Amino acid sequence: MGLFDKKYCDICGEKIGFLGNRKLADGNMCKQCAEQMSPWLEGRKEYTVAEMQQHIAYRQANYEEVKHFQVTDVLGYDNYRLYINRYNNTWFISSYKNYTDSNPDILYFSQVTGCEMEIKETHRELYAHTPDNRTVPYNPREYDYDYDFYINIYLVDFVTNVVRIKLNTFRVEDAYDPKYKELENLLYNMKTVFDQMAQGYDGSNLVIPEQLVIDAVTRMDMERQARFYRDAQRDRMRAFEMMLANPGAPAPRPMTPPRPVNPPRPTSPQPPRPVTPQPTRPVNSPRPVTPNQNRPTGAGPNRPGPGAPRR
Ligand SMILES: [Zn+2]
Repeated sequence: MGLFDKKYCDICGEKIGFLGNRKLADGNMCKQCAEQMSPWLEGRKEYTVAEMQQHIAYRQANYEEVKHFQVTDVLGYDNYRLYINRYNNTWFISSYKNYTDSNPDILYFSQVTGCEMEIKETHRELYAHTPDNRTVPYNPREYDYDYDFYINIYLVDFVTNVVRIKLNTFRVEDAYDPKYKELENLLYNMKTVFDQMAQGYDGSNLVIPEQLVIDAVTRMDMERQARFYRDAQRDRMRAFEMMLANPGAPAPRPMTPPRPVNPPRPTSPQPPRPVTPQPTRPVNSPRPVTPNQNRPTGAGPNRPGPGAPRR
């Protein structure tokens, strides 16, 4: 036994290259096989060789399905998009326009058990420079705000119990930015769709909410408002720095009031619209048998397989 003993992949049988070993519970896997795993797979080291073989086989079958996935509805416009096939009650999420090669996991509506959304505000304090180059806080304190938009989708019979997705590519700088409004709307819409799936809706009665379209005039208004708050902050900061440079001079009055720590949203968010159609089957009924039912799921150790009763 030595450090440089040659290892072979227990999945494909190929020799494992230097630093290429991905350990499994009872064996080894090469980097190329590991690349085929679902990006959502958790606890790879707890997978046995047999379980990983089943998972890789599922991923290869999934790839064939992705190639022929019939998109009936799409939701989203920034980073991630939700693709739906109403004909067989399946969906996937992908950040790629040409999604096929990324092999996104196709899931059934019935695998969704719930959904949560989160608009995460982060703020970083800004500091002023004194004439002798020290940094001091502004008075009143000034912050740089950023917003990220997350959705948590809770799942059963999958390689993880929750998929957490950030819907924005870039951080949104301002709650007055039209982008904020669009992403907030997308979050609500996605939640509405996943909530319906969790309640047992299928392709025949699933309602896809309409995407928010901000017209050019409103967009200009919102951008103007966002600019107003940015300019006001810049004015306050300049005034404070002038005061630092000339301590004797009378303090110039800020042109605009300081921005509140939690800025009010420009308009009230649209609550998810209540969905009226009734589910065609009770929530706890077994999954309908479809031609795809024998598709192996990505079930891993201690996770129910395709035949296991739903929780
Ligand atoms: Zn391999």
